[in-house]
Amino acid sequence: MRALRRFTVRASLPEELLPLSHLVTNLRWSWHAETRDLFEALDPELWRTCNGDPVKVLGEVSAERLATLARDRRFVRRLQDVVDDLEEYLSAPHWYQSLGEGAPATVAYFSAEFGITEVLPQYSGGLGILAGDHLKAASDLGVPLIGVGLLYRAGYFEQGLSADGWQLEHYPSLDPHGLPLKLLRQPDGTAVVINVPLPEGRTLFAHVWRAQVGRVSLLLLDSDIEENTPAERGVTDRLYGGDEDHRLRQEMLLGIGGVRALRAYCQLTGTPAPEVYHANEGHAGFLGIERIRELTESHGLSFPEALQAVRAGTVFTTHTPVPAGIDRFPRALIERYFAGFGVPLDQLIPLGAEADPAKFNMAHMGLRLGQRANGVSRLHGHVSRGMFNYLWPDFDESDVPISSITNGVHAPTWTARELVEMGTQVTSQGDPVDVEGPVHFDGVDRIPSGELWSTRRMLRGRLVEEVRRRLRDTALSRGAAESEVGWTDGAFDPDVLTIGFARRVPSYKRLTLMLRDPERLRALLLDPERPVQLVIAGKSHPADDGGKQLIQQMVKFADDPEIRHRIAFLPGYDIGMARYLYWGCDVWLNNPLRPLEACGTSGMKAALNGGLNLSIRDGWWDEWFDGQNGWAIPTADGIADPERRDDLEARAIYELLSSQVIPRFYETDRDGVPSRWVEMVRHTLRETGPRVLATRMVRDYVQQLYVPAAGSSRAMAGSGYGAARTEAGWRARLLDRWSTVRVAHVEATGAGDTPEIGSTLALRAEVELPGLTPSDVQVQAAYGRVDDADGLHEVTTLPMAHEHTEGSRHWFSATLPLERTGAFGYTVRVLPHSEHLADPAELGVVASA
Ligand SMILES: *Cc1c(COP(=O)(O)O)cnc(C)c1O
Repeated sequence: MRALRRFTVRASLPEELLPLSHLVTNLRWSWHAETRDLFEALDPELWRTCNGDPVKVLGEVSAERLATLARDRRFVRRLQDVVDDLEEYLSAPHWYQSLGEGAPATVAYFSAEFGITEVLPQYSGGLGILAGDHLKAASDLGVPLIGVGLLYRAGYFEQGLSADGWQLEHYPSLDPHGLPLKLLRQPDGTAVVINVPLPEGRTLFAHVWRAQVGRVSLLLLDSDIEENTPAERGVTDRLYGGDEDHRLRQEMLLGIGGVRALRAYCQLTGTPAPEVYHANEGHAGFLGIERIRELTESHGLSFPEALQAVRAGTVFTTHTPVPAGIDRFPRALIERYFAGFGVPLDQLIPLGAEADPAKFNMAHMGLRLGQRANGVSRLHGHVSRGMFNYLWPDFDESDVPISSITNGVHAPTWTARELVEMGTQVTSQGDPVDVEGPVHFDGVDRIPSGELWSTRRMLRGRLVEEVRRRLRDTALSRGAAESEVGWTDGAFDPDVLTIGFARRVPSYKRLTLMLRDPERLRALLLDPERPVQLVIAGKSHPADDGGKQLIQQMVKFADDPEIRHRIAFLPGYDIGMARYLYWGCDVWLNNPLRPLEACGTSGMKAALNGGLNLSIRDGWWDEWFDGQNGWAIPTADGIADPERRDDLEARAIYELLSSQVIPRFYETDRDGVPSRWVEMVRHTLRETGPRVLATRMVRDYVQQLYVPAAGSSRAMAGSGYGAARTEAGWRARLLDRWSTVRVAHVEATGAGDTPEIGSTLALRAEVELPGLTPSDVQVQAAYGRVDDADGLHEVTTLPMAHEHTEGSRHWFSATLPLERTGAFGYTVRVLPHSEHLADPAELGVVASA
């Protein structure tokens, strides 16, 4: 028989141990070793069988054991120490508290997935893990962030393998009462119920679960409640499952329900309302629509006026350079769902407009609703400006107002404790988190090479143990008998060069590229003197049979009895498994099709542990590969034939392995230490480590986006949203007259017939601005290198000064320095100007000479 539902009956805690329930509900334990030690001490054997899940341990520990511990004065004192430490972490001022008044009082961070710990499986991959690391780093820095997401009752899915290597999906039924969550309740104890209107007069209801991530609260909406009809109960069943209709309801719950949950939370806890709303990808975009609706109702603003106010405080982050990765809904579906919502459809629909008039594009809405937008690595910023140039057709790609902030990872979560304790993350200033500006982990210089190497070996050994355990479990689950799995005890070797490859399995990540020449790979694995071993993992989206075929191909290759002790595909990739890989792998392999990897973060986690990256120059690696922290696989970018490109890039990987990676790893000195390898490890820890930190990333978000967005948001809200009204009026008037704006004449003097370097060029432009004033615009001189087709490159812009006016004609001037030899070109262009624009390209209009 199968149970319909499951829940956990917990022993009641003796008075002395009550603080344990406080400790277990703050997820800081997921990155704080001393707190985990304490839970382990509750019952070390149980800790092991529960896979280090404090919630399970606390749920299953016996009443007798608790009674014993309650009488153990040393344990109770230790508990108090850990509780005091948490209290101090939660209340002490941190980096953010030094920023002063300009910083937003509260920031709301919306994401469809959050990967904080394997105990709360609410993520599918990089996007979710990044969101989890964002919350953790915000907590460490004291950023007053509130996370908003959904609670999926089955998470994403649990991955298994069939006997013939096909991915199996299992959907667990999570009981929120058995998770480190608390229900958001009214003062009278009843649960807060959020509602979101659906078509045909129906309503979607949800409860709000609160997870505590250090100082940061995360609100998760849950539709599996009695108030809903059976169809609506299933809205939060699983992550990225279901049809368009299902996805749309999820996204409406996330965006609209999320704002409503925030309102309830802030009111109940006395938290100031958010001034900045950060949409992590397009899924949460409806949050802007809900806020527009709020403002039209509460302050009587028109849709365009409310849009100004909402945009000012909204930050949008795009994560995919793959057009197919963008969320799009049939426009008719949006019209049906929003017909009675309370905002005019003829204003809403254009926000999601794209090339296909039948589609509503969530990324386009994200860009139109967010005054500030960014990609997630320097290269991805560039790719995004190209991809979304469509929305700013009159501008060059480099003018598209999308910046970039390179992702980071949360060091306390991902770094092996032994490495932290050795001082690999200590700066000369003493603290890895609080130091501003470029820092190095110079503590690593003080560690003797032999010690660094033996710690790396220990971590590799720990990974080998874990691989053996998982290989055995997997073999049994695929139908092997106990008598057939003995080989797993001797599989893998703690002294063999270990390469890791683990990530989701969309085709652009090319899971099977390494199998391009199977014989060559076999030879590398089985080399009698200098072998390599490979650990592989990754989940395919349940609807992606192509991905599952790649997994099957990999599994079948690794099933071969001759090589299975050197290569393994491990099912069930999650945070719990990934940790062992980042700790123990010597080399982290990444071979995406450039430039389709927006950033990639797994290689950063490997680097924090001294793993060397062997990667295509894509995402973050394009930016921070420095010749000493690993190897760059040459890409065959220009090759149009994909088969040939794969051949070339696979061959490059084999070549790099044979000629550089393997020799360096096995080239040891008299003490048995591969000193040149260890120097690369040291270099990686010291130089790459501080760059890839999530605290660096969150500081960048605060300084470059949150603080300016809070400024804009406050400006718009001033005097009862008077500024938003004025600004909306100004924009409407400006756009209405823009077609008549014209650069009538440009005159250059001063450079003579053959201009010389160091001389100047005086420019004078006559501009027609019927119905506008010179203060409504910025007239720019743009100049730089010019190509044969008169295209300008490496453009510098210079504002031109207003000289005088005759009617609707205005004269502007500027002096351009001629600083470079060679072909030089210039032009004059007119752009809108208002103190409330974050970027001159924002309105999408420009008039060029
Ligand atoms: C870091 C991480 C990812 C993302 O890795 P990418 O390199 O961005 O693909 C996915 N899953 C888990 C479990 C991770 O830890």
